[in-house]
Amino acid sequence: MGLLTGKNALIFGLANDKSIAWGIAQAFAREGAQLGFSYAGEALEKRVKPLASHLGVDFVEQCNVASDDQIANVADKAAKRFGQVDIIVHSIGFANKDELSGHFYNTSRAGFHLAMDISVYSFVALARAFQPIMRKGGALLTLTYFGAVKVAPNYNMMGVAKAALEASTRYMASDFGPQGIRVNAISAGPIRTLAAMGVSGFRDMYKNFADMAPMRENVTPEDCGNAALYLCSDMASHVTGEVLYVDSGYNIMAAADPREKKEG
Ligand code: NAD
Repeated sequence: MGLLTGKNALIFGLANDKSIAWGIAQAFAREGAQLGFSYAGEALEKRVKPLASHLGVDFVEQCNVASDDQIANVADKAAKRFGQVDIIVHSIGFANKDELSGHFYNTSRAGFHLAMDISVYSFVALARAFQPIMRKGGALLTLTYFGAVKVAPNYNMMGVAKAALEASTRYMASDFGPQGIRVNAISAGPIRTLAAMGVSGFRDMYKNFADMAPMRENVTPEDCGNAALYLCSDMASHVTGEVLYVDSGYNIMAAADPREKKEG
């Protein structure tokens, strides 16, 4: 019996086989969850459908999270298909490329709104839409980044959005707690994905990460998948409102360890 046997899990934010959502999907499938996927728009359909069929998943629905109607439509279809849902994974983020380089103070009003809408509000909107069919003991999960709490050059608007996302995680944990539903976030180290490549200077940031992190290794979607499995399974039955770092320990460091160079 798997850790998620008997649980229905919907994963939002699958774009391709590099997506963190794909690492999560594979871990969930391995542990017996019945899965459903949602993807942003038509352009991704040809990538997402083969991945879904690889895992034997036939609930695959388009949902642009900027649209309340599309969110309501997926929730409606999920209710018909699954009855109740145990797990919702929100692995979605977006900001215009213009907002991901240079000075943060140059962020446009429209760019600020867009990043907050797609990267933060969508988590709240999904939670509200699925609340009537979430089963007691269920879990909501989102993905965040260390740029929420410390300045990561060029991450700019996404850092501000992730700070709001982490705060939203705590507020929703408080709202949903009495129903026995937990709300958590994973703060992942840099991973080479479509979304990450939009951040100016990402390649250097990715390379420097492993030099600074105590474990001297980058993290993978599979690492996030296993952490998501813990947070969304009964193993984490009284863990809520948390941000779990999956980052080889990077966030505990104030500077790179100089001993490495001396000893090495
Ligand atoms: P990804 O590009 O594979 O996933 C991002 C997803 O967001 C895509 O599936 C995209 O289609 C979706 N999306 C964007 N706009 C949308 C919309 N309007 N409606 C519905 N979906 C929309 O990249 P990823 O790195 O796997 O990103 C997943 C999450 O992980 C994001 O929240 C990202 O910020 C976060 N994260 C990524 C890293 C990293 O280094 N890759 C690190 C920490 C956190």
